Amino acid sequence: MKLLRVNMNQLQVQREPVPPVYEHLGGRALIARLLIEEISPTCDALGPHNKLIFAPGLLGGAGVTTAGRLSIGAKSPLTGGVKESNAGGTAGDTLGKLGLKAIVVEGQPQSKDLYVLHVTNDSAEFVPAGALRGLGTYATADQLQAQYGADCTVLCIGQAGEYLLHGADIACTGEGDQRSNHAARGGLGAVMGSQGLKAVVIDKAAARSVSFADEELFRTASKRFAQELINDPKLGPKGGTHLYGTAAITAAVNEIGSFPTRNFRSGSFEHSADLRGETMREIILSRGGRIGTRCMPGCVIACRNLYVDEAGQAVVGTLQYETIALIGANLGLKKLDDVARLNYMCNDFGLDTVETGAALGVALEAGLADFGDFESIVGLLKQIGEGTVLGKLIGSGAATVGKVLGIRRVPAVLGQAMPGYDPRSLKGNGVTYATSPQGADHTAGNAFGARNQVNPLTVQGQKELSLKLQIVAAMLDSTGLCLFARPPVIADPQLMVDMIDGIYGWSWTKEDLDRSNRDVLRTELEFNRRAGITAADYRIPEYMREEPLAPHNATFDIPDSDLDTVFDAL
Ligand code: SF4
Repeated sequence: MKLLRVNMNQLQVQREPVPPVYEHLGGRALIARLLIEEISPTCDALGPHNKLIFAPGLLGGAGVTTAGRLSIGAKSPLTGGVKESNAGGTAGDTLGKLGLKAIVVEGQPQSKDLYVLHVTNDSAEFVPAGALRGLGTYATADQLQAQYGADCTVLCIGQAGEYLLHGADIACTGEGDQRSNHAARGGLGAVMGSQGLKAVVIDKAAARSVSFADEELFRTASKRFAQELINDPKLGPKGGTHLYGTAAITAAVNEIGSFPTRNFRSGSFEHSADLRGETMREIILSRGGRIGTRCMPGCVIACRNLYVDEAGQAVVGTLQYETIALIGANLGLKKLDDVARLNYMCNDFGLDTVETGAALGVALEAGLADFGDFESIVGLLKQIGEGTVLGKLIGSGAATVGKVLGIRRVPAVLGQAMPGYDPRSLKGNGVTYATSPQGADHTAGNAFGARNQVNPLTVQGQKELSLKLQIVAAMLDSTGLCLFARPPVIADPQLMVDMIDGIYGWSWTKEDLDRSNRDVLRTELEFNRRAGITAADYRIPEYMREEPLAPHNATFDIPDSDLDTVFDAL
């Protein structure tokens, strides 16, 4: 495999052998190691010394179901620490097939010009992208696929990334005309914008370059892994994740009182039934939309959907739980049609829906519009795309909006907004938000849906649960597997070991895999320490320790002493 080094200052590219220090690493693990080896943790995240890394996981390109996710990472302008955010779509699989362990983008152009990086089977070139300036992600992807072929993968930023807004993300095209895949968290779109990179176009691989050290071992394990997912009552063809998408959990999150409502004022929304996955399915099917679609070929779960309007016209390529929570209930909106329209706008501007939903929630709390007032919210969101001062403020994320507008109730940790689980009544997630080197990010260790016996409202057992899930998340993110595919590999880690050994022949044991996963967290924590981040920066906002959350009147009461010792067992 090779590393593709991309120097934006000299406009040069170079394929180089993978240094031994990176050899056994993929995805998030590679990003963490590369950042600590190659950049100063105190560098300006939007300055010339940061690096943006696109890395498939260790299983990328090998044809393992759900393992085609692409990890994107850099020092985050939002958190000031290490960041990895991954997206579905076709990029991870394609880069793996091309034999590229990572694309590492370094430096900044000498002019203010924008570029497209076009990666082919055996080379890469820069193409001036002035004509794409100011375009949203949909038009950018459409134009580039018209130019380079409908089967190429496009990674791109929208207006938010060009404006260097801290809520900006990176969009990735998926199977067929599937869109709506975003490496959403941490403001990585702003890093890409700071490097003058509007898009990366990756040609379809002419052939699969992955070779197998023990093909039979690999095939046996990967088939069993896929079968376990198919047999799983929640994930298989009759499971809720397939039938109702990720919104299958809306009712349950509302039930436990963790559904962010009106800027995290309540954990249950009186109109939650209108936002349930079951409701969404009925609406979509009655209008001729699609349910159970995939972001990448070969996924046996197929959690995506195509949300359409009353006329049957596509609105957004998938409507997901996190967006429904942050852009829906958190803004007091009860109609999925309204959420879908706002979702489309965020996707097009290249904005994280979690960060933007939380930022809008804080803005509404400050009185910029009323909760539930859809047209006014559209008006605020539109301003981000237009680049007005107010728009740029909201696009900078919840913490910045809170500071500028004088609002103390900001649901964020390490400068990053919380996703769709209030930590007061899902305390395991609270521990993850308050300790993960990734900031408030449920994908770093999501206690909701974890098959465990820990009561989400009690203090006991949460720190152990969070640590366990953070280690598993590091494994998923480093192999390219989808978060939804975690049950079989938690139940039987040997499956993962066999797939890795089948490809690479490293003769790993379960202990080697576990050590590798723990190393990811150790490296990330060390990066953040060197960046100057302290325990105080990781704390859950003070108001959540004092303000009881309806309906359980829960506060976040995990003691600091627990939070400070989560990683003692790492
Ligand atoms: S479960 Fe959903 S998000 Fe995960 S790989 Fe499959 S389609 Fe993509």
